[in-house]
Amino acid sequence: MTDWRVPLSVLDYGVEEADAAQRVIASKWLSMGAEVLAFEREFAAMQSARHAYAVSSATAALHLAIHAVGIGPGDEIIQPALNFVASANMTLLAGGTPVFADICSLAEPTIDPEHVEQLITPRTKAVIPMHYGGNLARMSELLELCRRRGLAVIEDSCHAVGAAYHDAHGRSPHGLMAGSIGDLGTFSFYANKNLACGEGGMLVTNRDDLAERIQMMRSHGMTRSSWERHHGRAGSYDIALAGFNYRLDELHAALGRAQLAKLLGGNERRRQLLARYRDGLSGAERWIMVFEHGIEHSSGHLMVVVADSPETRAKAVHALRESGIQTSMHYPSILEFTGFRGRFSQTLERTHQFASRAMTLPLHPGLSTEHVDEIVHILRAVA
Ligand SMILES: *Cc1c(COP(=O)(O)O)cnc(C)c1O
Repeated sequence: MTDWRVPLSVLDYGVEEADAAQRVIASKWLSMGAEVLAFEREFAAMQSARHAYAVSSATAALHLAIHAVGIGPGDEIIQPALNFVASANMTLLAGGTPVFADICSLAEPTIDPEHVEQLITPRTKAVIPMHYGGNLARMSELLELCRRRGLAVIEDSCHAVGAAYHDAHGRSPHGLMAGSIGDLGTFSFYANKNLACGEGGMLVTNRDDLAERIQMMRSHGMTRSSWERHHGRAGSYDIALAGFNYRLDELHAALGRAQLAKLLGGNERRRQLLARYRDGLSGAERWIMVFEHGIEHSSGHLMVVVADSPETRAKAVHALRESGIQTSMHYPSILEFTGFRGRFSQTLERTHQFASRAMTLPLHPGLSTEHVDEIVHILRAVA
């Protein structure tokens, strides 16, 4: 618990989650059983995806995805520097090299397809777009580019659970969801995500050729799970390849199912609050709201504004804190971390500007419109 009067995010947990946990305790089966199978089936149905694999985190899902498409030493993966560090870390730990592309603009802080194209070399194997705040990267352009150049697309969809695909004209021609547009999609159920289990994630794909490999790599390279053996469907197992233990347990899967049932309603409420923020901030000279024209397609994970200067942001953070209102920052540029600075001497001007001026404001399904109005009032008063 925090002592913020208006925290960034508050869990939507109640009797549904308590019942789910109780169900697992009564079942006396703790990992990779009926709850995990049901969670995967329900998640795949929501995504209209052929395969969904529950895993222990989105970082695990990214690691599996990078291995599944065959990234190894010398291979390059183009990705945004404006992201949580997991995709860059997993690229490095798989022996690959992250190549960082700039964002489209301060108002559209997702990976710029034109810059991606300039960065492609004979060693490039994949692109990892990230759907910032729950707003889709320019997927039509990226898909066209990646198909033409033979590159895999791994969507870091951690912010975009429940967001529908749309093209540049706002059309949703394929009935696809974020995470099921490219070759693979990764989701996080970390404690502060739209669908929260504490820890957990999902790896989604429509490619049958990747699915079997992912399933084995998730659990030691085993061909059969202990659930299948317990239920008499298999007597023994074989090891087909070197794998990880990235399994999800039953308790987290049961919590995930309770949260999945609330997801789309919660996202709708988030979009209503985003629209209220947008209307309140319209015409405010010092502030740009990211993706303000795309609210109807967003999962509403984050509410982010960009100040006209780092000083304006600092004043706003201070004024909001004085009123008990929490803020955050998604994200510092990966290029500015100590572990990356020495290895990557690049500069990305738009990413740098964004990281020095952006601010994340409270957003969750239980936030009141009065609190939104209060926050807007404080931002508009920053001189
Ligand atoms: C949360 C998050 C991750 C990491 O998820 P974990 O489940 O904590 O491993 C990766 N990328 C993005 C964009 C995230 O928001």
